[in-house]
Amino acid sequence: MKTRGNLIVISGPSGSGKGTVCQGLCRAMSGLHISISATTRKPRSGEKDGINYYFLSREQFEKMIAGGQLLEWADVYGYYYGTPGEPVIEALNAGKDVILEIDVQGALQVKSKFPGCVLIFLIPPTRAELERRLRNRGTDSAEEIERRLRWAEKEINEVSKYDYLVINDDLESAIRKVCTIITAERCRPALL
Ligand code: 5GP
Repeated sequence: MKTRGNLIVISGPSGSGKGTVCQGLCRAMSGLHISISATTRKPRSGEKDGINYYFLSREQFEKMIAGGQLLEWADVYGYYYGTPGEPVIEALNAGKDVILEIDVQGALQVKSKFPGCVLIFLIPPTRAELERRLRNRGTDSAEEIERRLRWAEKEINEVSKYDYLVINDDLESAIRKVCTIITAERCRPALL
C-alpha cells in the first residue's frame, strides 16, 4: 500500500488547455494538490497572486534559486517560472497526488530528480486550433502569440520523452483520460 502520493507533471503548449484540464481534475477527483508556481511575468487581467501564481520580481526569484527553494525552474519566453519545493514535498508526504503544470524544460528536470514521476503531454488537435485558442483568449499581443506558437512547435518535438500523450479535442474527454491515468498510477504497487 502506497503512503506517499504521486508526482504528476502536465505539460503542453500555451493554448493546449492545461489550466482548464487541471481545474476539471480537481472537480472530478479527490486527493489532489495543484502546485502554485512562482513567475516573474506580470499578472494577466483576473489573475491573483498566490492563486494563479506567486508573482515575483527577478531579484525575489533569483533569491529562491540561490536558496535552493525551487524543485525546478526555467526561463520560458524570457520570464522565470519555477515550482516552490516545500509545498510539493509536504503534499506528497501527506499522501496527495501533486499536479505540476509546467513546461518541458521543467518536466525533464523533475523526471531526473524524481524518476517515478508521471509525465503527461497535452496537445490541441491541430496547429490551427492551437492558434485559434491563443487568439481567442485575447490575453496576449500578436507578437506574444507568435512567440508562443514557435515555442509550441519546439515543445511538441519533445513528446517522446513523456509517459502519456492526451489530445485535447474535447475537454470532458481529456479530463476523463487524465483522471484515468492518475487512477491507474495509484494502483501501481509500492516498491518495498
Ligand atoms: P503562462 O505564462 O501561459 O501562464 O505559462 C507559460 C508556460 O510556463 C506554460 O508552458 C506553463 O506550463 C509554464 N510554467 C508555468 N509554471 C511553471 C513552472 O513552475 N515551471 C516551469 N518550468 N514552467 C512553468
